[in-house]
Amino acid sequence: MESKLRNLYSLQYIDSNLDELEEMKGDLPSEIRSLEGRVEGLTAQRAALDQAMKTAFAQRDHADSEIVTLRDKVERYKVQQTKVRTNKEYDALTKEMDTATETISRLEKEMEALENKATLARSEIEVLGEQLQELQKVLDEKNVDLTEITRTTEAEELKFRNDRLKLVSRITKADIATYERIRKAKKGMAIVAVKRGACGGCFNRVPPQKILELKQNSRIYTCEHCGRILVSDEIVASVNSAS
Ligand SMILES: [Zn+2]
Repeated sequence: MESKLRNLYSLQYIDSNLDELEEMKGDLPSEIRSLEGRVEGLTAQRAALDQAMKTAFAQRDHADSEIVTLRDKVERYKVQQTKVRTNKEYDALTKEMDTATETISRLEKEMEALENKATLARSEIEVLGEQLQELQKVLDEKNVDLTEITRTTEAEELKFRNDRLKLVSRITKADIATYERIRKAKKGMAIVAVKRGACGGCFNRVPPQKILELKQNSRIYTCEHCGRILVSDEIVASVNSAS
């Protein structure tokens, strides 16, 4: 039981240290995550606009070459008209020419619309590009700041994480679950020492009889006021001296 309590308190000790290291990073990690999300969103938006612009320009070019072909046709019909012998043939060519001319004017309108669409997309792409550049600049700065902080704490953090992994394998899943539950509810402190007869978490008095029992380390005691797990000074001292 004593080793169980010591393991649990060691876990608390490690987690408190990791929490402190994390606090040194401040809001940077969450700010970076949110900036990365925005960069990702804008990049996807820009890619979609780029695709739309390219499609519109390609469709415009296609319409343009169709117009060239149709104008050639109209010219050929005109030449043919000078050589026909019957009215029927003449009228048939006129009809062909009218159809071609109508198609040309429809295609010209389409070209204009496609040109507008592509140009609009291009200017939106430019605006997005500027926004992305600015966001990226802020993101880079924050990453530099975070790297700077991480560089100084990295080794320590790694040691705690390794210790934690080893420790967790020696604690039952049920105990870990209890620990995590209290830790979550009590701002990170699930296990506290009894100090001068009071709970180290909520500072309420712990009955002397309970303190005596607690020192035997024979079972898990919790504070009747805050629900945190209480451990004796001896456990705390042995963990602190071992680290
Ligand atoms: Zn308490």
